[in-house]
Amino acid sequence: AAADAGAVVDAPVETADGVSVAVTANASTPAAAARATEHGADGIGLCRTEFCFAGRDAPPTEAEQYETYRATLDAAPSSRVVVRTLDVGGDKAVPGLGGGGAPTLDGGESAAGPLGRRGIRRSLADHAGAFETQLRALLRASADCDGLCVMFPMVSTVDEFRTARERLRGVAADLDADGVAHGDPDVGAMVETPAATLLADELAAEADFLGIGTNDLTQYVMAAGRDCEAVADLHDGRQPAVLRAIATVARSARGRDCRLEVCGELAADTALTPFLAGLGVDELSVSPVSVPPVKAAVRAVDTNDTTVEELLGAPTRSAVEDLLSE
Ligand code: PEP
Ligand code: MG
Repeated sequence: AAADAGAVVDAPVETADGVSVAVTANASTPAAAARATEHGADGIGLCRTEFCFAGRDAPPTEAEQYETYRATLDAAPSSRVVVRTLDVGGDKAVPGLGGGGAPTLDGGESAAGPLGRRGIRRSLADHAGAFETQLRALLRASADCDGLCVMFPMVSTVDEFRTARERLRGVAADLDADGVAHGDPDVGAMVETPAATLLADELAAEADFLGIGTNDLTQYVMAAGRDCEAVADLHDGRQPAVLRAIATVARSARGRDCRLEVCGELAADTALTPFLAGLGVDELSVSPVSVPPVKAAVRAVDTNDTTVEELLGAPTRSAVEDLLSE
C-alpha cells in the first residue's frame, strides 16, 4: 500500500478511462504550500487569504500582502494557484475587520453573520479601499506567476461577480498608469449559495472558472449551520439535495466549457470521487494529506459507470449511503 501511495504522489492523474482530474491542495500559507508540494498536489486549488490577515491588529499593507502571496506561490507545487479574496464574516472573524456571530436584524457587528454581509458582499461594500489593496497585491504577484487565479467568495448574484471583476480591471488599469508590472489572472466565482447554483449557467458563461465550496453550499442548501452540532446530520454533503446542487453546477460548467473545481470538504470524500469525476469536475482541491488518497481514488474511477445517475436518483441520505457502500 505504501508503494502504491508513493506511485500516485507526484504525477497528475487520470481516471481508468483516461479523464484527467487535477488533485490540488487547499493551502493558505507558505508552509502549507510546501506541505502540498510534499504530498504531490497538482497545484493549489484554494488559498484562503484570511490567514494573511489573522493574528494582527491592523490589516496587512499591500507590500506585506504581496510578500506573503509571493512566498506562497514560490512554495506551491505548480504554477496554478487559486487565491480567494478575503472572505470575512460568517464563521470567519478577522481581528480589526470583524466577522462571525449570528445574524440579527439590528445591523450591528453580527450583520456579518452567515446571512449577513460576508465574503464578496463585504469586499464590495468596503469603500476604504481594502479590496483594492488586496487586488493590487494579487495582480502584482501574478506578474511572475501566470497560473495565479483570483476567486471571489460567497457570490450570489451575477452583478456581484461583474462588479468584482470590474474592480479588478480598474486596479489593473491603475497599475498600468503607474507603470507597475502585473499579470492577467483568470477570474472565478465560488458557488456556495443556492442562488449561485441557480445562476450557474450565467456565472459559467462569464467566469473563467467556478469553485464549488461544499462547506458553505451544504450550509445554505440545507439551512443547517456548518458549526451547529444540533443539525450536524443535515449539514452533510451526502444529503441528496447537496448532490443535486453540485450536479446542476457541473452541468452548467460543462455546457459552457468553464473549468470547474470542488474545494470544500466533500472533495476529499473518496466514496464520492466517482460521482464528482463522472460529473466532469476538472479539479478536486483537498487538504495536503488527502492528496494521495484522492489521487488513488481518481485512478480507480471509470466515468462510464452509472454512479452519477443512480446517486442523483437517491431520494434520501440513507439511499445515498446504500449506493456508496455497494
Ligand atoms: C467552502 O465553503 O466549502 C469553502 C471551501 O470555503 P470555506 O470553508 O473557507 O468557507
Ligand atoms: Mg466557504
